[in-house]
Amino acid sequence: MDMPAPASVLILGGGFGGLYTALIASRLLSGRAELTIIDRNDYFLYTPLLFQVAGGTLEAHHVARPLKRLLPRSVRIVRADVTAIDVAAKQVAAGGASFAYDYLVLALGGVPNFYGMATAEQHALPFKWLPDVFHLREHIEQRFAEAAAEPRRARDVLRTVVTGAGCTGVELVAELHDWMSGPLLRQYPSIPADALSLVLAEAFDHLLCPMDPNLMREAVRKLLDRRIDLRLGRFVSEVGPGWLKFRGPSGDEQVPCGTVVWTAGIKPAPIIADLALPRGPGGRIEVSSTLQVTGHPEILALGDLAACPDPSGGVLPQTAQVTVQQGPAAARTLAALIAGTDPPVFRYRRKGEVVGLGRMGALAEAFGLRLVGLPAWLFSRTVHLARVPDWGDRVAIALQWVKALLESERR
Ligand SMILES: Cc1cc2nc3c(=O)[nH]c(=O)nc-3n(C[C@H](O)[C@H](O)[C@H](O)COP(=O)(O)OP(=O)(O)OC[C@H]3O[C@@H](n4cnc5c(N)ncnc54)[C@H](O)[C@@H]3O)c2cc1C
Repeated sequence: MDMPAPASVLILGGGFGGLYTALIASRLLSGRAELTIIDRNDYFLYTPLLFQVAGGTLEAHHVARPLKRLLPRSVRIVRADVTAIDVAAKQVAAGGASFAYDYLVLALGGVPNFYGMATAEQHALPFKWLPDVFHLREHIEQRFAEAAAEPRRARDVLRTVVTGAGCTGVELVAELHDWMSGPLLRQYPSIPADALSLVLAEAFDHLLCPMDPNLMREAVRKLLDRRIDLRLGRFVSEVGPGWLKFRGPSGDEQVPCGTVVWTAGIKPAPIIADLALPRGPGGRIEVSSTLQVTGHPEILALGDLAACPDPSGGVLPQTAQVTVQQGPAAARTLAALIAGTDPPVFRYRRKGEVVGLGRMGALAEAFGLRLVGLPAWLFSRTVHLARVPDWGDRVAIALQWVKALLESERR
């Protein structure tokens, strides 16, 4: 009997969703499918540790790992920008070439959401991809050089505003605090420590990490202890070169600042914006609990661009924790579709939350427990290490943490 031709599976995006789908699918579908993964980068970016690259604890190579090293040789890797997706013709254009598919996996993630505020898009720095981290570090280093050259302007130039107090904003402001008040200030002894000011601004009146309120109060206490200026209930209404405007209950306030970093939300990758596929909240693609797109059983979507039903109501959050569980589920759905059986239902298991606070420690919620201090720090580091896909990388990151710890003890 003739073997059926292998199905052609095209995975768009080599982030958490694409990588984990490809890893598991390559095992489940061996010989029954040809897997191709397309990404504009040739590396997988471990975003939860990006803050530590911003703060200088980790190097870029710890968080950006070559896809070629992480995936088996049976998976074809194409480094190219996806420029068009034709769901009717089952074709994808990328890097000037055309790719036909039987099954398509959409895992292109999201981009920063400036909510249509053109001035923010123009003047605020995003914090999403690896080049954003290099750009941010370079920008802040330049502000320090400027402050040292013009001490009268130091206070304004060094004021750094992080907008959006979700987990990303909270972790970033903590890491920036450690870097700016430590190594950078030591590099510029003429700058007085009180010239530094870090602001965390949020339109809502509370931090937005999805954690126990007591832990969030602890986060607020730790940030205030480090003199981080928390502006809750303040909506950023405009950003200009060297200033931003807040809109609050008592009117508009213009604040001079050298740096504005935007961590106030994400929206799905622009390439999917015009696709005629059903949408859920925030323009995310609507999928069923098998991760199949409604009306297109041959297309799966997962991660930040998908609106996947949460059995406890609404849709699942846009986190790595959700996406690393969806990857294997997408692979099982593909295996079932190719075998002609019913795809299994994806069940998300919330395993707790962790928020790193740099040298201020960490906060964690796991197994019904609330952790602070050393236990939270150890737990958060263990969670990150467990999610790094390669053993060698885990060891390298753990050694780097020990090195950074010993160096900070010596100072
Ligand atoms: C700074 C930061 C810290 C975070 N920390 C945490 C955390 O601690 N815990 C947590 O659970 N979540 C965290 N997240 C969220 C987490 O990173 C996302 O939920 C997760 O990455 C979603 O996975 P994804 O596969 O949907 O998208 P991504 O991982 O973003 O992958 C998308 C991939 O698609 C590629 N791509 C996009 N457009 C194109 C195109 N047109 N052509 C070719 N390739 C393209 C990109 O290069 C990328 O590799 C963090 C996010 C950020 C930005």
